Amino acid sequence: MISLLFTKFRIHPLFWLIIAAGMATGHLWEAAIAFFIVLIHECGHAAMALHFGWIVKKIELLPFGGVAELDENGDDSFRRESAVILAGPLMNVVLALIGPFLVLLPFWGTAQQEIFRNQNLAILLFNLLPAWPLDGGRLLHLVLQQFYPFRQAYRYILIFSWVVLILFSALMLWLFSFSASFVVVALFLTVVIFKEWRAIPLHFIRFLLALSRRTHPAARIRNLYLRPETRLVTVFSMFYRNSEHHIFITGSRDGPLEGRRLVTDYLLGRHPGPLLGDCRDRPADRFI
Ligand SMILES: [Zn+2]
Repeated sequence: MISLLFTKFRIHPLFWLIIAAGMATGHLWEAAIAFFIVLIHECGHAAMALHFGWIVKKIELLPFGGVAELDENGDDSFRRESAVILAGPLMNVVLALIGPFLVLLPFWGTAQQEIFRNQNLAILLFNLLPAWPLDGGRLLHLVLQQFYPFRQAYRYILIFSWVVLILFSALMLWLFSFSASFVVVALFLTVVIFKEWRAIPLHFIRFLLALSRRTHPAARIRNLYLRPETRLVTVFSMFYRNSEHHIFITGSRDGPLEGRRLVTDYLLGRHPGPLLGDCRDRPADRFI
């Protein structure tokens, strides 16, 4: 974990800006404590991810907190993914519990104690907001993926995140009037959500690749009943995470097509045509 911190640790330029602003305005302790809390929070995510054998690409401190960039092969279970997401906020709970004992440190007074308590609570609550890419948003995304196909769930969480961000910004402006640091954070999150929206096709291709390479059995089997003139890309847009898909073609008396096999053949360019009906008479695609 220590070596990981040194090799994968990054600080976003905007985080430096907020630290510099803190120092310039004589709030050095606030900046240092925020840095420490965010770092511990991100280490929580990274430690849980390493525990599950995921690859930690980088841990970056951002103006609103931080992000542990992980590669979890795109198709892990709901239980593992939610554990990695919750490990961050859990570290804030741990910090709240050990907080009272920090007064035993020689350089730690009641002023630092109060800053620590307030910032830890603020970071915990802010991270639990149901907006991407905060932990609350990621958790909601995970729940949405249980009820909606992969691509649709991605669109829903990002649209919902924009709405939450606008409402939360309005609430903050109403409660605390203008705050330059909050405007920086809100603009930053808007850009992150927009970039994520544009990256949906890329995530979708990664999802299909992970699905075609999956070796473990999926958590659920989902049956799809579709017309033969349905385009294959439309069929794939109906696919869920952690699921096996059985596709029944209306008007056909044959058994179902296996979704994973369809994806593999499509990615390898083995399909005779772009429509589902084109795959109808290929016995190799069917279950025995
Ligand atoms: Zn987090």
